[in-house]
Amino acid sequence: MAHIDILTAAGLTETELTGGTLSVTTPIDGSEIARLSMHSVADAQAQIVAANEAFQAWRSMPAPRRGELVRLLGNELRAQKEALGRLVTLECGKIYQEGLGEVQEMIDICDFAVGLSRQLYGLTIASERPGHTMRETWHPMGVCGVITAFNFPVAPWCWNAALALVCGDPVIWKPSEKTPLTAMAVQKICDKVMAEFGEDAPKGLIQTLIGERDLGQTLTASKDVAIVSATGSVPMGRAVAGDVAARLGRSILELGGNNAMIVAPSADLEMALRAIVFSAVGTAGQRCTTLRRLIVHEDVYDQLIPRLKAAYDSLPIGDPLDEGTLVGPLIDTDALTAMTRALDQAQAEGGKVHGGGQVLTDSHGAAAYVAPAIVEMPAQSAIMHHETFAPILYVVKYNDLDQAIAMQNAVPQGLSSCIFSTDVRETETFLSAVGSDCGIANVNIGPSGAEIGGAFGGEKETGGGRESGSDAWKGYMRRQTNTVNYSRELPLAQGIKFDI
Ligand code: NAD
Repeated sequence: MAHIDILTAAGLTETELTGGTLSVTTPIDGSEIARLSMHSVADAQAQIVAANEAFQAWRSMPAPRRGELVRLLGNELRAQKEALGRLVTLECGKIYQEGLGEVQEMIDICDFAVGLSRQLYGLTIASERPGHTMRETWHPMGVCGVITAFNFPVAPWCWNAALALVCGDPVIWKPSEKTPLTAMAVQKICDKVMAEFGEDAPKGLIQTLIGERDLGQTLTASKDVAIVSATGSVPMGRAVAGDVAARLGRSILELGGNNAMIVAPSADLEMALRAIVFSAVGTAGQRCTTLRRLIVHEDVYDQLIPRLKAAYDSLPIGDPLDEGTLVGPLIDTDALTAMTRALDQAQAEGGKVHGGGQVLTDSHGAAAYVAPAIVEMPAQSAIMHHETFAPILYVVKYNDLDQAIAMQNAVPQGLSSCIFSTDVRETETFLSAVGSDCGIANVNIGPSGAEIGGAFGGEKETGGGRESGSDAWKGYMRRQTNTVNYSRELPLAQGIKFDI
């Protein structure tokens, strides 16, 4: 399918795609596919005003009715899954299967949120005073600003938006400047759904800001944006956290990862091999949950690593729209430069590099296709503490599980982790208080490819935020503790006497 046809099928018009100053290129061949008009800071401020007006009405809408809007959104995403999935591939370069998977994740979280709209449960609490009841209730919080990264251009918006909307919060989205087209297409889907929903959807309920980081900064700086949920790199998270904390606002941070797998002597190596390849090279190593560090027991190292290298050598690298491609391009040539630098540093630190060079230079010279790299390291050195957003898999040996867990936890990030082992003592240790320090810890499954039912997020420099399933919805509401006295007395808590 020609690039223009993909854009048109996703509902984008020529007028919208031309005439502006924001150049959007496709990583597939490096060509420019749009020149967009950007919103100004004044536009962002106007959106914040409109969103707060929308909040006045939306917070009083019964939550199951709010859920109905999200149900319609899920239905429309089902209808447009292929068109949007292809646009995801065109704009960020992940293979079409993963583009579809990303839209499916949006659909899944919509389904989850619809059910949730009838389950925003509080608590009843035993009061120490006679004739009193206590309870805890949850109320809409206010406008939710959502800032997203290029590598998952649509799903993280939906993890936030579907929950925020049923929780009673309007949403303003600032997508990555590298992937604004998918956001525009999703905004169009939302506009259609809101029109179908009718007057109960106030103007300004779901909005998008197209542009660069100054628009994100407008959201983080505004006291009228109650929640800022930000997905991106650690430096970006530091800036966002500082800006939001300075006004004592609430932030939800989903930042970089540096994820590891421990392969124990009892592991099913066939399963481990498949999990390693998918988690390390999927999305061309550009997932926050990408497997970056492989910690292999010395007894199985020589069985596993040659097979892994052979699997890497046979990976189909190419146009992500082509069926059969498993590794698409990096987002841009800056990412290629970062990968080359990291490999140079790894070599300087004693690493032996397998793969890793640029490929398809004849046919796709302006793009950045690479052969995924395996780097055998003598020990976990400085470069392994750093997230390079590219398909580099560092491999180290271990001989003692405590040592392997310590190595896994020794990096600044704390997103995802896993162990391959059939020994319950090892797996339960890995999941215990002395095991993995990450927000996600898996057994016999790779670190990437989470389901929406669980809370998603990580510790340390990953930012501590939780999105998606479980009780992540509480991050989008304010908690209120209520004490109700239905007696004819006014006893004080803790038995304090204060008679007047
Ligand atoms: P990035 O940090 O360069 O940009 C992310 C977004 O933040 C963009 O929309 C950008 O415009 C905005 N931004 C940048 N500085 C800002 C500021 N000071 N204030 C407000 N907004 C600002 O990230 P990227 O290169 O697009 O994405 C890759 C990174 O994102 C990786 O580190 C990856 O691990 C991380 N990521 C994390 C998760 C997660 O859930 N933990 C998911 C996807 C990506």
